[in-house]
Amino acid sequence: MTVKTDYEVVIGLEVHVQLNTPTKIFCGCPTTFNSPANLNTCPVCAGFPGALPVFNKDVLTSAIKAGLALNCSIADTTIFARKNYFYPDLPKGYQISQSDDPICIGGHLDVEQADGSYKRVRITRIHMEEDAGKSVHGGSTSIGVTDGSWSFMDYNRSSMPLLEIVSEPDMRSSEEARLFLQQLRTELIYTGVSDLNMEEGSLRCDANISIMAKGSKEFGTRAEVKNLNSFRNIQKAINYEVERQINIVENGGEVDQETRLYDADKGVTFTMRSKEEALDYRYFADPDLTPITVPKDYVDEIRQNMPESARTKRDRFVNDYAINMDDANILVSEKHYADYFEALVDLVDSPKTAANWILSEILRLFKDSQGETVFDLGISPQQLGQVIELIVKGTISNNIGKQVLGLIISEGGEVAEIVEKHNLAQVSDSSEVESIVQSVFDANPSEFERFKGGDKKLMGFFMGEVMKATKGRANPKVLSGVINTLANKK
Ligand code: ADP
Ligand code: MG
Ligand code: ZN
Repeated sequence: MTVKTDYEVVIGLEVHVQLNTPTKIFCGCPTTFNSPANLNTCPVCAGFPGALPVFNKDVLTSAIKAGLALNCSIADTTIFARKNYFYPDLPKGYQISQSDDPICIGGHLDVEQADGSYKRVRITRIHMEEDAGKSVHGGSTSIGVTDGSWSFMDYNRSSMPLLEIVSEPDMRSSEEARLFLQQLRTELIYTGVSDLNMEEGSLRCDANISIMAKGSKEFGTRAEVKNLNSFRNIQKAINYEVERQINIVENGGEVDQETRLYDADKGVTFTMRSKEEALDYRYFADPDLTPITVPKDYVDEIRQNMPESARTKRDRFVNDYAINMDDANILVSEKHYADYFEALVDLVDSPKTAANWILSEILRLFKDSQGETVFDLGISPQQLGQVIELIVKGTISNNIGKQVLGLIISEGGEVAEIVEKHNLAQVSDSSEVESIVQSVFDANPSEFERFKGGDKKLMGFFMGEVMKATKGRANPKVLSGVINTLANKK
């Protein structure tokens, strides 16, 4: 994108993370995904008058973990507030959220840029809140309405536990915003508090975007863009929005403060509503929920048990295993990749070889599969370790090793048995190789004469023919030796 150089772009993100606690934030209903509509509901999350919320302590633990992962301070006391507005997906008429006293304040994430440098993005706050239900439009009923004119409410999502993470307006390009969100996701994955899956909606992001004259100290009026459901779309939506705002300003107009939606098919943003001010929500402390005192030793205990962060792990891979930075970044980008690598690295001599097999073969197979993690491929780190060992010993070639991985997926079973059953071991015995080479020479007399006469280019041809005859099983080192010896003998 070409931002006209006279403008600077200012971006702040509001990120919603759906927590993976087994039950909802203020009732005991399950948080199961894709249940039949309204199955996971009770008087509390369906908003019946008089039903009282009870706070789920697991949500507090998750919020603290997320806060520690993002270098935040954890509040001593935190308070739930009612955010009042009307919408059919909000049966109580208010959302229980937090306003003045959120659980986490003042953190940061150092975002690695394409050139390897870091850019610090400050985290304003993290607060806990409940999700709203879901409207399902275009429905038909079992009692005869078939024109799709009905709308239905599904309250399964009502009171699902969320964290809202608010950044300071510290990002200066759409790429910085994308990198921030991707790296925020990676760091949070390691805390285990959420799946953080954008497609399934457990990671959602709204982008606040404004422009200002280059060098200006005063931010412009911002538009908030919602409905960003992939990293690519976030970048595209911001780019569109920046162009739109520049156009307005260049034509002497003023940017309205409003909430916009992104249409991914058309690649445009459009007005959803003019931005409401915090005052419009009439926030006040929820009288049904007492302020929560957060004991210091409780936070300390969580701090002590925090798993290794993605970045610490990456640096450890680089320092202890001599994996290069780019590869290490990919290995830690999903926790299951890193878990797989750590299981494999203990089983093989060379960490680099372990990394290469995961980065090339395992990730390729995983991307073509339906599994949730690389462990679902059905190739255990032990099995891959055995394949690598057979290659290192020279029992099978590299290419045959890849073939064996395919056979493990399709047939399962012991690696040694698969190699045996499919007769995949390399032919390294020189007398056996000699007889095959001889038959290839015999079948190609004119090429053989040219080779003998000094045309060394034909080496490749003969190697290829023998490989064809042995289905790739001839040991290449033994083979080239045998070809040379036999040709020089005659
Ligand atoms: P609100 O409560 O109306 O959502 P906030 O002050 O909480 O407003 O800000 C929401 C988000 O907007 C934050 O991520 C913040 O960084 C970002 N933001 C605030 N001002 C600007 C601006 N001028 N340009 C871009 N982003 C902004
Ligand atoms: Mg906000
Ligand atoms: Zn419920």
